[in-house]
Amino acid sequence: MATTSSPSRNAGLEKVLIAGGGIGGLATALALARRGVASSVLERRLIFGDDGAGIQIGPNGTRILDAIGVTDFIKARVTAPPALRILDAGNANTLATFPLGRWMAERHGAPYWAAHRRDLHNALLSTAEREPLIQIRMGFDVTAVGDALGSKVTATSANADEARGDALIVADGAWSTLRSRIFSGPAPSYTGKCAVRAVLPIEDVPDELHRSEVHLWLGPDVHVVHYPVSAGHAVALVAVFDDRSVVSDWSTSCDGAWVSGQTTGFAPLLRDLLARPENWRRWSLMKLSRRPRMVLGRTALLGDAAHPVLPFLAQGGVMALEDAMVVAGALADDPGDPARALQTYASARARRVRRLARASWLNGKIYHLSGSMAAARNTAFARMAPDRFMKSYDWLYGWTPPEAATR
Ligand SMILES: Cc1cc2nc3c(=O)[nH]c(=O)nc-3n(C[C@H](O)[C@H](O)[C@H](O)COP(=O)(O)OP(=O)(O)OC[C@H]3O[C@@H](n4cnc5c(N)ncnc54)[C@H](O)[C@@H]3O)c2cc1C
Repeated sequence: MATTSSPSRNAGLEKVLIAGGGIGGLATALALARRGVASSVLERRLIFGDDGAGIQIGPNGTRILDAIGVTDFIKARVTAPPALRILDAGNANTLATFPLGRWMAERHGAPYWAAHRRDLHNALLSTAEREPLIQIRMGFDVTAVGDALGSKVTATSANADEARGDALIVADGAWSTLRSRIFSGPAPSYTGKCAVRAVLPIEDVPDELHRSEVHLWLGPDVHVVHYPVSAGHAVALVAVFDDRSVVSDWSTSCDGAWVSGQTTGFAPLLRDLLARPENWRRWSLMKLSRRPRMVLGRTALLGDAAHPVLPFLAQGGVMALEDAMVVAGALADDPGDPARALQTYASARARRVRRLARASWLNGKIYHLSGSMAAARNTAFARMAPDRFMKSYDWLYGWTPPEAATR
């Protein structure tokens, strides 16, 4: 367990501003505090509300939660699925089972967790609220940024509040408005796929699915994932379908009848499961037509604002955690020149997020195959040695923060 007490204050940096108090923003504040750097988190929302459904946190993420002192606030609320079970959505046959749980912990020295996204966010928030070097300003909708190329950067809110700091980290999420305003970044465009999510109390889940593994059901142009969260008291569900209409937030309600209408051709057990939630939320899977520049003077993008990834490797939130560690390390190591430090951060992240984005996109293609290609995929899954398959993800789960960030 990493120490949670802050080191002495970093004399070179007075304060870093962070636009967005989501997973990436709060993790950045905590990683900075571990390096003695003060920050102000500027969050648009007045209160944190509907905070999603499930989130999987691989060892590359749980290792970071430990380093920034969050583990104690979340460990009682997570589950540690022992395996990933892949099933055919049409007939409920198991296609393959790959190890997570103990295998991951032994191989990577950190656990593989599944959590309610709200529990992860609450844990980050509770840790941050106890940290004297972190100030959280709710209801601060950053609409303008000044002096990014000067000696102090300013952030101004919609109601004319102002904050000043040595650097500004922009972590305002996948629908980032600051990405286009400050970095001339592209607006996200729709991939043609939408995701629906729900959380079901365990007693509402069909008995046959009271299982601790992550389940991944594959069908033509569709996949469904579910796993236990909230210490096993609930199951988080997400289904990804092709769809024409676009929504531009995380929380649009979705009719259960619409979801059920997408499940024709599914095995009865899966249809039954998907018919149970009363409340679904839906979001559109977006991509950026080109990569935005990551840094402008003393400002830098982080997390989904920098690189929204498709959720086919369950790594969007974890990439934001990794970014947080790297940017905090870079700023703390080079306090006299924040603009240079942010360039160091951007260079350190570029290859990895590109690789992750490619791997995630490819997974999506494989998941949604149909016809003979799907049959070939299923045969390949059946023949694959589980151990070897999981080792092919060492590059992903074995990532450790730069040494400096955890000192
Ligand atoms: C409500 C919500 C529900 C989600 N549900 C899921 C889910 O069910 N499954 C899943 O896989 N992923 C979900 N995600 C996305 C996933 O959590 C992100 O991929 C991951 O958290 C990346 O972190 P981030 O910090 O980059 O962005 P986010 O966690 O999205 O945080 C962005 C934050 O910035 C704030 N913000 C936006 N604009 C401004 C502004 N101008 N000024 C100040 N603050 C601003 C937002 O209110 C938000 O708190 C959800 C995100 C949110 C916000």
